Amino acid sequence: MPQQVSESKPNGFTMQCRHCDNTIYLHSGAGGRWRAYEPNYGKTELDEWNRHRCAAALQDAEIMNLVAPPGSKPVDLIPRITRMIQDFQSFITQAEARQAEARQAEALQAEARLAEARQTQV
Ligand SMILES: [Zn+2]
Repeated sequence: MPQQVSESKPNGFTMQCRHCDNTIYLHSGAGGRWRAYEPNYGKTELDEWNRHRCAAALQDAEIMNLVAPPGSKPVDLIPRITRMIQDFQSFITQAEARQAEARQAEALQAEARLAEARQTQV
């Protein structure tokens, strides 16, 4: 019941685990540390959520520990994540430009090799 939990536990976010595709919950606990959880469907009545230990989920929890370390204010989260998205978008733009340059250089080299091969044939 992830919908109920996001209401009962406001210090977190639901997401799909990149590894297993299950709905998981990244939660900042009392100590301010982020951890990944999964619903505890009918396993016991004691605990609503279990730790989720896929590597991808552990990494996402670590990212949240960097973005929103213990003691950070919830109000800072949106500008920090917005800035991260902008920075990553800039990385994508730069990487795409490099790939385009590399493809162009490869095409020019292939053209030069072809021209050289034609010249030796004559
Ligand atoms: Zn998973």
